[in-house]
Amino acid sequence: MSGNLSTNLLHTGDAKFAKRLSGMASIPETLPIYLTSVFAFENASDVDAIYEKDADGYIYSRIASPNADAVSEILAAADGGDKALVFASGMAAITTAILAFVSAGDHIISSPVLYGGVQDFLSNELTRFGIGVTFADILDGDISPYVQANTKLVYTETICNPLMEVPDIAALAASARERGLTLIVDNTFATPVVARPLKLGADAVVYSATKYLGGHSDIVGGAVVGAASIIDRIKRLQILYGGIISPHDAWLLSRSLRTLDLRVRRHSESAAKVAEFLRSHPKAERVFYPGLASSPSHERAKRQFEGELYGGMLSVDFKGDEKTALSLIGALKTIALVPSLAGTATTLSWSARASHRFYSREDRLKLGITDGQLRFSVGLEDAGDIISELSSALEACQ
Ligand SMILES: *Cc1c(COP(=O)(O)O)cnc(C)c1O
Repeated sequence: MSGNLSTNLLHTGDAKFAKRLSGMASIPETLPIYLTSVFAFENASDVDAIYEKDADGYIYSRIASPNADAVSEILAAADGGDKALVFASGMAAITTAILAFVSAGDHIISSPVLYGGVQDFLSNELTRFGIGVTFADILDGDISPYVQANTKLVYTETICNPLMEVPDIAALAASARERGLTLIVDNTFATPVVARPLKLGADAVVYSATKYLGGHSDIVGGAVVGAASIIDRIKRLQILYGGIISPHDAWLLSRSLRTLDLRVRRHSESAAKVAEFLRSHPKAERVFYPGLASSPSHERAKRQFEGELYGGMLSVDFKGDEKTALSLIGALKTIALVPSLAGTATTLSWSARASHRFYSREDRLKLGITDGQLRFSVGLEDAGDIISELSSALEACQ
């Protein structure tokens, strides 16, 4: 370079290597992280060609990036959808997906027991736009008592947080389709390893990729998967609202997804053992886990879930309520109080004080989320070790 330092600092390096890389006889085994906000063009007609979809290429990383596209392809395949989109958080994915299907004056039917942030968005944010929501027990799939002339959307979770209830997704999909409504299912707790709501008839599946899809407690992300017509509609809003995932987090998510099947199988198999142990423990009042034959959701889960797996999440009411919960948290050694889920290690969360703290106490208790209920995210440790830690800690608490 023949310019001055400040100029030479700008015009050496990347472009030459990027060009060389594309022409070499070998390619990187894993996709590099394309930490670039924008792409450069040699001539103006190439910009037109990409905008008009006459040529492959990228323009600006809020619209699309190689890393976001790569991870979308993995997710679409995992869930059996045509296409997927990845977002900067689960909330970005869910709010963008919902807003693609409702307008002012419309109405939504939703399960009452949901992730707290989504419940807040439906009850306190959409109302600002004149969008009404009916929260109703739709576990059996019957929405007919709640349908209005302006109903557009039905929203539920595959495994409802934190009581681990499982709705009849096939029945919900059939009754939604019959009325021309869109069914969106949050499959965060199940993942495609445990359940594939698209196969059961849902129109779109949404995720907090912060949880099992990421699986290592190191990224915040979200995703939506569905048919091309559905995803294209949401894509427009992803570009406008700007919720796309960063190239760096998209790369970490791709890395994580390579082991999703192994991880979720192990989480599920260990959770089933922990649930059995707690069910017969004298200090446990009630265990909420769809894999237990005693769960009111067991039949629906067994019919719809893959490979006799029921996920890694369970909740427990203890005899002694809050007092036992507090004392158990103090007595546990490796099982930390972490107000999230789905990391590699076993953790627990206090639903009334974390995910559901914004529900009124009255509403919470009515739904069955008691003051001392603890939610466990069963990790990848040896299941026997998890059980023996729980057993000694329960022994030690009053
Ligand atoms: C965490 C979570 C969300 C929200 O996702 P973020 O990544 O925290 O924005 C939505 N749904 C469920 C079921 C969750 O667990």
